[in-house]
Amino acid sequence: MAIRKVLIIGGGIGGLCAAIGFRRKGIEVDLVEISETSKVYHVGIIVQANVVRALKELGVADEAVAVGFPYSGFEMQDPEGNTIVREYGPKLAGEDYPTDLGMARPALHDVLIKATRETGANMHFGVTFEKLDDQGDHVHVTFTDGSEGDYDMVIGADGAYSSVRKFLFPDLPAPKFTGQGVWRYNLPRPKDVTHSVMMDGIPGGKAGYVPLTEDTIYILYVGAEPGNPFFPTETLADEFKKRLEPYGGRIPELAKQITDPELVVYRPLEVCFVPDPWYRGRIVLMGDAAHAGTPHLGQGAAQAIEDAVVLAELAATEQEMEPMLRHYMDRRLERTRFIWESSIQIGEWEQHPTPDANAAALMKKMLEVVSAPI
Ligand SMILES: Cc1cc2nc3c(=O)[nH]c(=O)nc-3n(C[C@H](O)[C@H](O)[C@H](O)COP(=O)(O)OP(=O)(O)OC[C@H]3O[C@@H](n4cnc5c(N)ncnc54)[C@H](O)[C@@H]3O)c2cc1C
Repeated sequence: MAIRKVLIIGGGIGGLCAAIGFRRKGIEVDLVEISETSKVYHVGIIVQANVVRALKELGVADEAVAVGFPYSGFEMQDPEGNTIVREYGPKLAGEDYPTDLGMARPALHDVLIKATRETGANMHFGVTFEKLDDQGDHVHVTFTDGSEGDYDMVIGADGAYSSVRKFLFPDLPAPKFTGQGVWRYNLPRPKDVTHSVMMDGIPGGKAGYVPLTEDTIYILYVGAEPGNPFFPTETLADEFKKRLEPYGGRIPELAKQITDPELVVYRPLEVCFVPDPWYRGRIVLMGDAAHAGTPHLGQGAAQAIEDAVVLAELAATEQEMEPMLRHYMDRRLERTRFIWESSIQIGEWEQHPTPDANAAALMKKMLEVVSAPI
């Protein structure tokens, strides 16, 4: 039986890309997003070469490049700001496209929302599922607004705390705190900040900065937060600056501009990985719902977008549900597991350095892995 109509639960990066991918294949799409609006927080996202390639596949790369800051690769510095490694990204989307893009999250979100609308997906905000009833040849869904629908496939793209995952696999543990948290803040771009920089070498974490647009960058710190503390909003700017104190190079000049605690975005890092398979019957997981990792390789959203591209391609070409979802697992499991494990490993090394710790080598390996076709 061909797939004619799907429900996507969750309108984040992964869910929106799935909606675009399925619509481009001519499959009817309903998407429900639990939030009332399509707002995302204001800091940035690192978009690497495999994402540019996947966005091109979805037909939105030009729009993304137009609102992002194209650059190539990354630089690792010591805590004083001396270069340790400078890597250049591969041009996976072709000569006309950049290898990397810094983007404000709202800018990427706007591109994806616009394309989702234009491709004709039906988006419903402030709505989620109440009941998923897999009847074998279709899934009957009851929604929180009282409506109902029948779908050939249901996709759980509802993030790290996925309700679809809880429904499918109630015995899986909740996401686990890794011991680290991430601090971020947007700042004006000094004209010579033209690629992403990460500063390694102080136990606990690392600091860095990434260009987002011609005019803006974001500064970040990823570090140990023992006991997973809660920080009242009014303390966030001071707490962030305290963590940046050991760093030299450009950091002191940037840190003094962190003034508004309301604009600091702090997130504890929480992870989970669903064992094979990520589906039961006609209901399948993708993105953070299946593999929520840490941002150490800047590949979480990248993997969600690749899941979307692969799932849409398989749904359009394969007739039977179980073999189609098996192929999805075959193409996604090892790659996402490598990213997930390697990201967590880097965070572990930052917290508990060992003589063999080599984040730069793992980042280089990551570039090789994600350069392979999806
Ligand atoms: C600090 C930090 C920095 C990061 N930086 C990068 C980076 O630079 N590059 C990169 O590639 N990745 C990065 N990531 C990872 C990236 O943000 C995630 O992997 C990505 O957002 C996953 O997309 P998703 O669509 O699967 O989930 P989400 O983005 O979490 O979206 C899930 C959506 O589902 C909605 N939802 C939740 N529950 C329900 C429900 N029951 N019903 C309906 N809707 C629901 C949510 O409101 C949300 O809109 C970072 C992550 C963190 C924590």
